[in-house]
Amino acid sequence: MKAHDAMYIGGEWRPASSTDTIPVVNPADEQVIAHVPAGTAEDVDAAVRAARAALPGWAATPPAERGARIAALRDALAARAEEIAATVTAELGAPPQLAAAVHAGLPIAVAGSYAELAATHPFEEEVGNSTVYAEPVGVVAAITPWNYPLHQIVAKVAPALAAGCTTVLKPAEDTPLTAQLFAEAVHEAGLPAGVFNLVTGLGPVAGQALAEHPDVDLVSFTGSTAVGKRIGALAGGAVKRVALELGGKSANVILPSADLAKAVAVGIANVMSNSGQTCSAWTRMLIPADRYEEAVALAAEAVAKYVPGERVGPLVNAKQQQRVRGYIEKGIEEGARLVAGGPEAPRETGYYVSPTVFADVTPEMTIAQEEIFGPVVSLLRYEDEDEALAIANGTVYGLAGAVWGEPGAAVAFARRMDTGQVDINGGRFNPLAPFGGYKQSGVGRELGAHGLAEYLQTKSLQF
Ligand code: NAD
Repeated sequence: MKAHDAMYIGGEWRPASSTDTIPVVNPADEQVIAHVPAGTAEDVDAAVRAARAALPGWAATPPAERGARIAALRDALAARAEEIAATVTAELGAPPQLAAAVHAGLPIAVAGSYAELAATHPFEEEVGNSTVYAEPVGVVAAITPWNYPLHQIVAKVAPALAAGCTTVLKPAEDTPLTAQLFAEAVHEAGLPAGVFNLVTGLGPVAGQALAEHPDVDLVSFTGSTAVGKRIGALAGGAVKRVALELGGKSANVILPSADLAKAVAVGIANVMSNSGQTCSAWTRMLIPADRYEEAVALAAEAVAKYVPGERVGPLVNAKQQQRVRGYIEKGIEEGARLVAGGPEAPRETGYYVSPTVFADVTPEMTIAQEEIFGPVVSLLRYEDEDEALAIANGTVYGLAGAVWGEPGAAVAFARRMDTGQVDINGGRFNPLAPFGGYKQSGVGRELGAHGLAEYLQTKSLQF
């Protein structure tokens, strides 16, 4: 695709307020593929004003009609599925198969789910002598990361539109081209001018201006815990609604009754997918002590299939590559046993990191506590279920997780985990299942009816 040198505001591509641009780099070959405008507070203000002006009309549009527009948006995205996949491959480095199935396919399914939810959600209910209305919160600021460029956008914008809110998106600086494609799809779907606006730009400039704009009613942010805390504090100061999807350090708990070979293979695949740049990735594998060495051998065998440049793409940028290699060095320094991979870059060009497996990881090590966001798995051993639970719950995060074993035992264990989503024996993605964090993994939920509820506020009339 050709990059736009403008912002999408009020239903049209408008020149940016500044001539500054941000280069977009293909992380697989380090070549600059495009430039997009670096938005300023002035662009953000114009976008928020457009969203505010469009709010009364969109909020009053019957929900079924909003659903029909979102269905048209889903169709416009589906018609561009190949272009979306190619763009995600170009700016994120995702291997083509992953780009098609997940980066393009998943958000199209999520958009479809909100087309349906808009039409079927009970926006009005009778409670005793009251009528309770679910009304849109207002103007929504969506600030998204680069790891799943389109999914992160759709998971915020689709429910906000279904709720009757209007939106301003500030996408990640590394992946703005996918966001521009989304804006084109919005335009093609015939959504009213101003219900969706796009400002590309740097986080500390455009992102910050949007998060602190006084006429924004709700900020929905996905990204690092550090920035999430800032945005939460800003929202708190202004008594503004906020939704935060932050980091994770999810546990993959293999119970003694599990199919060990399957649990290890799927566990490795889960972390290697998207080069480990998934907030819900099962980065800590918890293994019964008496099967530990068997699991280590299985993990080494499984990870060998993930060849950089083939099944595993690069990391998004040089900074992330350096950061992840730093964590691998830290793991070695703190005494973990390197089973596969290591800090050396596996390819000369591109921001690749070797798929890495560490054994003999203990719960207090840095690599067992901090979010690495790369293709790195830590294998920890446990003696009994209580110890497994203490390890699983022993980080500041609580986003996701997995449990493998006899179904009754697996569910009982999952219910004791301090985490927002758990896959039992592999699980299967459900676009209607609420996704979000316990503890410092965030505030609020995305997807399904719970995701829609984030963008609604309630009013009751008594009779
Ligand atoms: P980040 O938090 O800096 O960026 C996320 C989004 O926030 C981007 O759009 C960015 O422009 C914006 N932003 C940055 N500073 C801002 C500010 N002061 N005010 C408002 N918006 C701001 O994340 P990153 O630097 O791209 O990645 C760093 C780490 O974050 C990763 O290594 C990973 O640990 C974590 N991360 C988590 C997720 C997730 O899905 N939870 C996604 C991406 C990154």
